[in-house]
Amino acid sequence: AVPLVVAVSTSLAAQNGLLIRNRQAFERTKELQAVVFDKTGTLTEGKFGVTDIIAFTGSEDEVLRIAASMEMHSEHPIARSIVEEAEKRGLKLEEVENFRAIPGKGIEAQIGGTTYMVVSPGYLREKGIEAGEEAEKLAAQGKTVVYLLKDSELAGVIALADRVKPESREAVEKLKKMGIKCMMLTGDNELVAKWVAEELGLDEYFAEVLPHEKAEMVAKVQEKYVTAMVGDGINDAPALAQADVGIAIGAGTDVAIETADIILVRSDPRDVVKIVELSKKTYAKMI
Ligand code: ADP
Ligand code: MG
Repeated sequence: AVPLVVAVSTSLAAQNGLLIRNRQAFERTKELQAVVFDKTGTLTEGKFGVTDIIAFTGSEDEVLRIAASMEMHSEHPIARSIVEEAEKRGLKLEEVENFRAIPGKGIEAQIGGTTYMVVSPGYLREKGIEAGEEAEKLAAQGKTVVYLLKDSELAGVIALADRVKPESREAVEKLKKMGIKCMMLTGDNELVAKWVAEELGLDEYFAEVLPHEKAEMVAKVQEKYVTAMVGDGINDAPALAQADVGIAIGAGTDVAIETADIILVRSDPRDVVKIVELSKKTYAKMI
């Protein structure tokens, strides 16, 4: 049988948008020593705005138009923002063929027999392609930068900026006061990660982490601390499963929600603080 105090807490939590799927994990929450947050959409809004475009061939609009035609087929927050900007500029998008996503690295497709890619700085480095000084400058400003490749040649650069959620700062501050280490995991570039980490006063961050490495990073943190992982994306599911407490935040993806021990319905990182407090209260009463 479920102890009454736990049943009451669980239903009280649910009324406040904190859904407890795994009661053992909820009990473990009171002992948390570290929380690892995903960056995009968890600590930040996950709504990027296009800030700069560089064209190495053709016009800026042409770079955006090709990229957007491909990104139409991707669900990534970066993709949605690029398509939105193209629509804002009234650009006519094209049909693409053989679309393929490369998890944590970008996308590839063909347009009229030419192969295009939109990729991360990490992918560029991997292939030994020089990004160019101008692009480096944009990254140094803490912007997320993606590259358009045309038949493996650099054709353009798109820089985007996201915003830190105002609620993130309070959440991190309160968790740290409770003696819980706050960390961040992201596939995004080092400079963006550093900027967000400093902005929020995070204890540690891991940048340019590939999707399959996310669970491994959580396991490393678990060697020292009882650890929660908070994320919303498809890529986050294995990391959520690995953590002592897996927390899906926001609307999330179905995969993240199915894997999580706790679901925070609102997209507010302060609810992580609430669930820790509730676990402490609930299980303190039972001793
Ligand atoms: P995160 O979930 O931390 O944002 P991802 O693993 O989803 O990281 O993506 C890592 C990086 O791969 C992105 O910052 C971007 O550079 C690149 N990337 C992933 N998907 C796309 C996409 N659809 N279009 C362009 N770049 C992408
Ligand atoms: Mg993600």
